[in-house]
Amino acid sequence: MSNNFLSFIRSDLTGLKAYTPNIISDINQNNDRLDANENPLDLPIELKQKLALIYEQEISTNRYPNANPLELKKAIASYVNESGKLDQLISHNQISIGNGSDELIRSLLIITCLGSEGSIMVANPTFSMYKILAESLAIRVINVDRFNEDFSINIKAANEQINIQNDPPIRVIFVVNPNSPTGNSLTEKEIDWLRNIPQNILVVIDEAYFEFSQTSLVNELSEHPNWVILRTFSKALRLATHRVGYAIASSEITSVLEKIRLPYNLPTFSQLAAQLVLENRDLILPFVNNIIAEKERLYNIFKEDLRLKVWSSDANFIYLQLTDNSTDENLNKIMKQLEKKGTLIRHTGGGLRITIGTKSENDRTIQRLTNVLNSL
Ligand SMILES: *Cc1c(COP(=O)(O)O)cnc(C)c1O
Repeated sequence: MSNNFLSFIRSDLTGLKAYTPNIISDINQNNDRLDANENPLDLPIELKQKLALIYEQEISTNRYPNANPLELKKAIASYVNESGKLDQLISHNQISIGNGSDELIRSLLIITCLGSEGSIMVANPTFSMYKILAESLAIRVINVDRFNEDFSINIKAANEQINIQNDPPIRVIFVVNPNSPTGNSLTEKEIDWLRNIPQNILVVIDEAYFEFSQTSLVNELSEHPNWVILRTFSKALRLATHRVGYAIASSEITSVLEKIRLPYNLPTFSQLAAQLVLENRDLILPFVNNIIAEKERLYNIFKEDLRLKVWSSDANFIYLQLTDNSTDENLNKIMKQLEKKGTLIRHTGGGLRITIGTKSENDRTIQRLTNVLNSL
C-alpha cells in the first residue's frame, strides 16, 4: 500500500469511530435483544398481512416513492396534535420526515453548522449519534457534563460555553427527553433554561421515547421558533425496521430541511407502513403500559440488590452502574457474560443500559444478571 493510498479521503475521518450496533448473526437470532431500545413486540399479524397485501396490490416497485408524502405528514400531524394539549394545532407543513430520525439529525447539522459555521453542544452521557454525525461532517462538538446523582445537565457549565467566544460559535444544542442512556426526563429547571436559550441557537429536543414518558414539549413549540422536536417510529410504534422519523418545527425550518433532503429518502413501503401503524395505533399503543409496568418491576428488583446502583427511568430502558468498582472494564465483563447467556444489553455512557423486553425476557434478565453478579 503506497503512502497516498486513499489520500482523496478527508483526513479528519481517519480517527472517526462508527456507531457500532450489535451485529445479529444467524446463530444468535434467538437472543434476547435488549440493547437497542426497540419494542419487544412485532406488529400484530393482521397489520403485517395488510401491509403484505398493500405491497402486492398497490406498490409498483418500478416507480420511485412519493417524494412528498402528504397523507403521511397529515397523519403524523394529527397524531402529534392528539399527543399534546395544543393551543395552536401543528399543520402538516410543520412536519419533515426522515429515514429514521438519524437522517433528520444529520439534516439539522447540515442546515446549521456545516462549513465551519457552527458547533454543537451536548451534555454527556447522552445519545451518541449527535457526536458521531457531527464529527462525520467535520462539525465541532462542545461537551458539558451532567450531575451524577440525577443526570441533570450542568447548566452553569453549559451557559459558560454559550457565553464564551467558541470558534465556531454554538449553533445547536441537542437534548433527549427523556435522556438516553440514563432515562431521566428534563427537569422544570432544565426546561426553563431551554426556554431562555438565545434565539440564534437552535434547540433540538429529541422525544424518541415520548410514548413511554407520556410527556412532550410540543405544546410550547409555537412560542419558541428556535426549537425543533424529533420523534421516531422506531421505538413504541414498533417500526425500527422501516426507518421512519419525523421533525416538528416551524414551517420556515421544515422548508429549509426540505431543501437539502434527498428527494426519495423514504421508500414507499416505509411510508405505507408508517401510515398503517398510525391508522391502527389503538392496536399498538396500549401495550406501552405493559412496558412501563415491567420497567417498574425491574427497577424495584434491581434497587433491592445492593451491588447495583440504579436510576429511575421515564423511558423503556433502565440504566445502572455497580455500587463498587463501576469501571468500564467491569461493566464490559458483565455485558459480555450476559451476552454469553443470551441477553444482549448495551454498555454506554459509563453504565449498562437494559431495554425492557417481554415479561419472559425480563425474567431472564433478572435471573442472568443475578448469576453474573454472583460470579464476579
Ligand atoms: C432510538 C433513538 C432515536 C431513533 O432513531 P431512528 O433513526 O429514528 O431509528 C433517536 N434519538 C434517540 C435519542 C434514540 O434513542
